Amino acid sequence: MLRTLTTTLAASLALTAGAIAQENGFQTTELEDGIYMIANDRAGNVGLIEAGDHLILIDTQMPPFLDDLEAAVRGASGGRTPTLVINTHFHGDHVLGNAHFAALGAGILAHRNVAERLANPVTSQLTGRTPAALDEAFLPDILVSEAMMLSRFGVTGEVLHFANAHTDGDIIVNIADANIIHMGDLLFSGRYPFIDLDAGGSVEGFIAALDEIIGFSDDETRFIAGHGPLSTRDDLIASRDMLIEGRARVAALVEEGHDLAAIQEQNPLSDFHDAWNWGFITTERMIWTFYRDITGLTQ
Ligand SMILES: [Zn+2]
Repeated sequence: MLRTLTTTLAASLALTAGAIAQENGFQTTELEDGIYMIANDRAGNVGLIEAGDHLILIDTQMPPFLDDLEAAVRGASGGRTPTLVINTHFHGDHVLGNAHFAALGAGILAHRNVAERLANPVTSQLTGRTPAALDEAFLPDILVSEAMMLSRFGVTGEVLHFANAHTDGDIIVNIADANIIHMGDLLFSGRYPFIDLDAGGSVEGFIAALDEIIGFSDDETRFIAGHGPLSTRDDLIASRDMLIEGRARVAALVEEGHDLAAIQEQNPLSDFHDAWNWGFITTERMIWTFYRDITGLTQ
């Protein structure tokens, strides 16, 4: 009881103070009245929307962070739990909390390919790892093909699917009346993106998705990235331009007849390294991704 009171008090103080609350490693930022970004920089960034009777959670992170994430959600919403989960795509760091929040009563909405990939995982040729197949408790029960308006959940906005980009089951959540977009992993802000070629992703598709979103957003739009800080349209433009230039450089070397080892040796992305390299997608892995996307070869 004491803990509940303390948590509630801390949450309301943080809201009056201007919207940033720290809860068990998660930072909750209120972007608009009732719209939050919840992040710990350990797994995918989470969005939270209070919409009348509905409380919508965008992505569910993964163990061991779930009790802390639930506490952050309750802290922001006056003790409520989500009625609806939206999965931006199937990767574990965005969906392994599904069963946790489904058990608390949430329905789970995702692109139809997410259900298929969760049930029948394939080995990643980038990491060599095969995710475990997930049982029914994790699977989405509201399936989207191309787009779905969110009005029936009390939100003026929609989810939109982009084909063959980060995966083959990506959706973004466009909260139109607040001019806020949750990008899922179509945005790794300020880092090389992971483009999951084993799960239907493609460099061209990723670029096309960014192009389209850049086209219908504006300088005021705030973007919740899948990974990285709250972002602006300039961050999308920088990511798109890096991908276009990087892919062109690798394609030129392929055209000259170089194999992957020779291209890695030449390092055509050397001037991108300091700005974009990070622990998971290194410059070497980004070159590998471009090479495989262009040639279909993994070595
Ligand atoms: Zn992902």
